[in-house]
Amino acid sequence: MTTPVYQNYINGHFLKNQSGETFAVKNPATDDVIYYVEVADAFIQNAAIQSAKQGFAAWSTMSPIERSRILLKAVALLRERNDLLAKIEVLDTGKPWQEAECVDVQTGADVIEYFAGLAPAQVGQQQMVGEDFYYTRKEPLGICAGIGAWNYPLQIACWKSGPALAAGNALIFKPSEETPLGAIKLAEIFTEAGVPAGVFNVVQGAAEVGQWLTQSADIEKVSFTGEVGTGKKVVASAAGSLKDVTMELGGKSPLLVFDDADISQAVSAAMLGNFYTQGEICTNCTRIYVHKNVYQQFIDELKTRTEENIIAGDPLDPNVNFGALISKKHQQLVMSYIEKGISEGATLLTGGKALSPASAPNGYFVAPTVFIDCTDDMTIVKEEIFGPVMSVLTFDDEDDVIHRANDTHLGLAAGVFTKDIKRAHRVIHQLQAGICWINSYGNSPAEMPVGGYKQSGIGRENGIETLDHYTQTKSIYVGMTNIESPF
Ligand code: NAD
Repeated sequence: MTTPVYQNYINGHFLKNQSGETFAVKNPATDDVIYYVEVADAFIQNAAIQSAKQGFAAWSTMSPIERSRILLKAVALLRERNDLLAKIEVLDTGKPWQEAECVDVQTGADVIEYFAGLAPAQVGQQQMVGEDFYYTRKEPLGICAGIGAWNYPLQIACWKSGPALAAGNALIFKPSEETPLGAIKLAEIFTEAGVPAGVFNVVQGAAEVGQWLTQSADIEKVSFTGEVGTGKKVVASAAGSLKDVTMELGGKSPLLVFDDADISQAVSAAMLGNFYTQGEICTNCTRIYVHKNVYQQFIDELKTRTEENIIAGDPLDPNVNFGALISKKHQQLVMSYIEKGISEGATLLTGGKALSPASAPNGYFVAPTVFIDCTDDMTIVKEEIFGPVMSVLTFDDEDDVIHRANDTHLGLAAGVFTKDIKRAHRVIHQLQAGICWINSYGNSPAEMPVGGYKQSGIGRENGIETLDHYTQTKSIYVGMTNIESPF
């Protein structure tokens, strides 16, 4: 069987590049090349802009309710093809089928559905100014760019295209070069649902293609999901043409477990927030601060459940709940952090090694790892690892733990476990993070705006406010009286 080669998706169909350049995509669980993808060369880049211009002209003049109907058809197709799309995500990312089957496609479809519903309800203002008045229109921005990370490829493509398209923009989306297929399937679905050609284009490649998007003067906004360091480059590059930016970046989020908390629930949150998607989630609570009075109970249960309940193996096996990391390189990076944790004096409670499960012996697995005896200055406590590595720390004073939790340049997420309702709100209000949970961790419904404080991001995704970020306000003053002129 020949290995498939996917082209860029431009103007409602696949378009062959001229350079002939391709890149390979591997299944992280097997180390096998599963398909090739053509790089978006200058010919494709030019075609993408022309296509988006035409798409924008057609789409932006449709009424919001017409756009909404079409987007809802795409939502139905996404849900109909859940299993097919979920399988693509498993093969591209290495995450377990168990997760992809009920999370990745559904949370993507939910967001498109949410914005499809919201768009027709977006209204301008009108106000009298004496006998004159003004009114405002919410107009789309034009051509927007989306640049995605590899951990939730289809979901990220949906979270960016949902509000962008609902508001009447055209989008050029570049998925991560590690996971390029989901976005292509989304493009096919949009076309099938009736989204006009050119409204959603997919360009493929790595940093150079991303850089082109951030530099292009034809693009009005870039919405980026990825690392803090890359985000800074994107903002700097976008400044050249004063693009609007949304930045969804990394985190090193704290979870505070007080001594009145339901400890089993707190352990569930800590495990979900470190081991779900084998630890490759931006909001993960990788710094767990546990009150000294419940520390022993917490780590005893954590160790038992981590060692007994986590099943690593072939991600397509529905019994497996822990998959492979995205690449060999990333596996090595995560292992280097683990080695640093050991050399800086942290104690391994469990894990700490690469795995080679019998059902997926060549996959890039790292065992679910918990470090105890951690201190705030250790590298594993300060830097985002983006793998299944949890650091547990202790505290006994509320103000002190808040100060320690906030002592970072990142501010994506935070969580608190306590049964004291006043403390829960008092503490969470003081934590410097954009996405917070009380007695819960990780849920991110379409209705809830998400994004980072400090260097974890700029702007928000999801929630009502995001639609505003994909529109610009035009104010129109209407003279009802004669102009008074001194000239
Ligand atoms: P990355 O920054 O390496 O890459 C992200 C995307 O940027 C890729 O598509 C890549 O090709 C592109 N890119 C690389 N260099 C570029 C450049 N100079 N200009 C423009 N584009 C460029 O990130 P990653 O490794 O794919 O993803 C992991 C990171 O993403 C983690 O830090 C994680 O926390 C973050 N993340 C954040 C969120 C969020 O919503 N806050 C969600 C998922 C992932």
